[in-house]
Amino acid sequence: MLQMINLLDFDAEALIAWFEQQGEKPFRARQVLRWVHRFGATDFEQMTDVAKSLRAKLSETACVKPPVPVRDSVSTDGTRKWLLDVGNGNAVETVFIPETTRGTLCISSQAGCALDCAFCSTGKQGFNRNLTAAEIIGQLWLANRMLGADETGERVVSNVVMMGMGEPLANFDNVVSALKLMLDDHAYGLSRRRVTVSTSGIVPAMDRLRDACPVALAVSLHAPNDALRDVLVPINKKYPLRELMAACQRYLDKAPRDFITFEYVMLDGVNDQDEHARELVALTRDVPCKFNLIPFNPFPNSGFLRSPAPRIRRFSQILIDAGIVTTTRKTRGDDVDAACGQLAGQVQDKTRRTSKSTRNVIPVTEVRT
Ligand code: SAH
Ligand code: SF4
Repeated sequence: MLQMINLLDFDAEALIAWFEQQGEKPFRARQVLRWVHRFGATDFEQMTDVAKSLRAKLSETACVKPPVPVRDSVSTDGTRKWLLDVGNGNAVETVFIPETTRGTLCISSQAGCALDCAFCSTGKQGFNRNLTAAEIIGQLWLANRMLGADETGERVVSNVVMMGMGEPLANFDNVVSALKLMLDDHAYGLSRRRVTVSTSGIVPAMDRLRDACPVALAVSLHAPNDALRDVLVPINKKYPLRELMAACQRYLDKAPRDFITFEYVMLDGVNDQDEHARELVALTRDVPCKFNLIPFNPFPNSGFLRSPAPRIRRFSQILIDAGIVTTTRKTRGDDVDAACGQLAGQVQDKTRRTSKSTRNVIPVTEVRT
């Protein structure tokens, strides 16, 4: 039997090319793109302005197959988290964070992650595989449906952050296809400034992203010097801080925003001292940036503790006093890391998943300090 093509795997360019191979005009591809992404159609018969013969042809060769949610948790403040089955006992998570002026979706790019940052639960689970473009954009497709986007195509998700499981720049092509769909007016029409890729600092891929699809960039810094960053973020051994800072500067030439966001996890007694903050100020002197401090989310056997709140405030103040806009991510609850996929392990262990299924998700909001 013919393998069905999942149309969620195609960005506009690829869909147009595929249509052309079959003698169909580009505008037909754009029509279908709108049906699939804007209106959430999965059945070609719904595509009423597409010729009947084309609808019939499509239904023989193609499908629209988003990932399947196996768990849907809603917190009291409206934060919503979906656990998505991606086959072979693997699952990834997608988190929606509603705020008064925006709705942010946090999307995963890989099942697991190979980069093994010392404080990251996803890294500790190891790497399983890259998500397909369909599985990545499918998270946005699904969120829009689950959040009640209607046939007018009204959007609930205004911002996307690639901050779920995995290192987006290690799954470059599929992530870029998904990003292009996020930006495409026939699909989701999000502003480049409202789509953020978070990377642990894969320098050559940062340059490629700048050329292929520049969106807002967040860099997981986590340490102010190479000796400490080599331990916390091992990819630093390959792309040390001097190279990383230079790549950030190059990125800003084409970036939709005029600053890089540096993420910095606050680990008690490890990277949270005054001298670390002062070192950061010196390190980032030539890179227009903002800092986002993330209180560490503990997980079993991590070996780290979260910095106490007064320490985080003091650290933040040193950056602010140096003129750097600094925010602290506010996390309620202390057992689930909403920034980085802890739930994925739970689906492999079905008994544990069941016993935890009554828990609410942990809401995460951004606050200015
Ligand atoms: N792989 C990408 C994006 C996913 S993680 C990256 O590393 O940037 C999103 C953010 O959560 C990153 O800054 C990551 O370092 C951080 N993070 C990972 N584990 C965490 C934990 N246990 N507590 C707090 N933040 C964590
Ligand atoms: Fe991978 Fe990011 Fe976790 Fe590091 S912090 S292990 S790059 S997901």
